[in-house]
Amino acid sequence: MVNKQLRQIPAIHELLQEPSIVKIIENDEISNDRLKSTLQEIVANTRETMVSGKKSFNNQVEIKDYIIRQVIMAAKDYLRHNLQPVINGTGTVLHTNLGRARLSKSVVDHVVNVSQSYSTLEYNISQGERGSRHDIVESYLTELTGAEAAMVVNNNAASVFMILSALAKGFETIVSRGELVEIGGSFRVSSIMEESGAILKEVGTTNKTHLYDFKEAISEQTNMLMKVHTSNFHIEGFTASVNREDLAELASKHNLIYYEDLGSGLVYDLNAYQIGREPLVHQVIQAGVDLVSFSGDKLLGGPQAGIIVGKKKWIDQLKKHQLARVLRVDKMSYAALEETLRLILLNNNQTVQDIPTLRDTLRNQDVIRSQVNHFIDSQPALNHLQIEVGTMESQVGGGTLPNVVLPSYGIKLYSEEAHAHQLSEWFRRQEPPVIVRVQDDKIFIDFRTITTDEDALLRHAIHQIDKLIEGEIS
Ligand SMILES: *Cc1c(COP(=O)(O)O)cnc(C)c1O
Repeated sequence: MVNKQLRQIPAIHELLQEPSIVKIIENDEISNDRLKSTLQEIVANTRETMVSGKKSFNNQVEIKDYIIRQVIMAAKDYLRHNLQPVINGTGTVLHTNLGRARLSKSVVDHVVNVSQSYSTLEYNISQGERGSRHDIVESYLTELTGAEAAMVVNNNAASVFMILSALAKGFETIVSRGELVEIGGSFRVSSIMEESGAILKEVGTTNKTHLYDFKEAISEQTNMLMKVHTSNFHIEGFTASVNREDLAELASKHNLIYYEDLGSGLVYDLNAYQIGREPLVHQVIQAGVDLVSFSGDKLLGGPQAGIIVGKKKWIDQLKKHQLARVLRVDKMSYAALEETLRLILLNNNQTVQDIPTLRDTLRNQDVIRSQVNHFIDSQPALNHLQIEVGTMESQVGGGTLPNVVLPSYGIKLYSEEAHAHQLSEWFRRQEPPVIVRVQDDKIFIDFRTITTDEDALLRHAIHQIDKLIEGEIS
């Protein structure tokens, strides 16, 4: 029986004559060689599933249709980029796995504009001679933070590594035990320090560190005090940490560098909206800190980058260091960062709307609710999916503001005929993929991170999945 079926598998040269496959070839969507090898692979797989009894067909037409469908799907997969846009239905604004901060149109326009031409990346127009890429954003950063000088490297992990390597190698850097943090994706302060050649001197305990712990630890070997922002967790109860004014004073008395790794680096005052209690970067500089570093794609809402601001004396040394060349930033990132900083510096009514990270973090629950209600009203009838609306809780994410919960609103989907995990997989297979949360056996889609521009795409995805269930059960 199986043997008879196997003989009915069409030959490759026959399949290549099929109109839908000829169409793929004519459209130049995929090279001939790749199409042939894909066909061979699919035929082999089909044969295998028939031999193992996982699949059986009634006649030759069914076999052929099955193979052609697989080829069309494979060609589609091949056309799709590996890095592709998705709809973020998780409500987490800075989703580490989904690219953290999304960029606004004017930021992207500047990137496109600069990168499709030659540019002044390292060229001084007024002098007609070689310039420095450090000059592109330095004045914006000093204006925004009140620091004397600034520079940019590849990401904030690179800032930490560079500052320690360039300024503290072979000397002791004193850090509180309560701040020896690990940030997602294997960034550990203690490991970075070891790699950099700086010698870690831990003081205090996990929950309490006092100024005298730092004082007593200072020796001939010390040249830096470091404070690390505990970005992704929050210790409650019997705790104490040393405030930065006292540390800055202690460092200056002993001629030590005082460096703070701020992590998220707040430059726009979210405290004014009762969101978190992060210090603003300019307040940290004002407190007398020598060097501060933070990420470009966390609360700043820009591209991936490590931003270092502080005393000119130290920044000048960093700029001259070999690592500045190793960790330097590309023109596309500079373009994105420059436009992001310009939008923030404008600080007008439009700023929050223009920086998606700020816009989404500050979106009011009532506004989200009305988007959801409008979405539901325009959703065509569904035959198999049940849809409910409800309140949700979103997070800023990206290892920032760990104890901030943002009241939000969204939809919950479920079906008598398909399990939530199956639905979630189907959502991921849509174009664009929709990333959802599964909770209480339902699909949760939080609209905080969905723009009204994306509503139609999401509506289409939901409709497609309703049809998929139809196909499964019929
Ligand atoms: C996020 C973070 C880092 C790493 O920054 P990247 O830009 O992701 O490299 C370093 N330190 C702290 C405290 C952070 O929160």
